Amino acid sequence: MFARLQCLLNRHAPQRNAVEWDGRDFVSHCRHCEIPVRRIRKRRWARARAEVQRRSSDSAT
Ligand SMILES: [Zn+2]
Repeated sequence: MFARLQCLLNRHAPQRNAVEWDGRDFVSHCRHCEIPVRRIRKRRWARARAEVQRRSSDSAT
């Protein structure tokens, strides 16, 4: 029940037995909604596809 709400808040629970290291982040799948998730902080997993692009406008100007 609560898992759904957590997922809506983009707080997912990874499948602990299926966590992988992709060379940069821990990635897995949400055990509730089964979407790809990655660890953005300790005990904080977010949707993997919703990657926030870095604001690196240093190259301009
Ligand atoms: Zn989820």
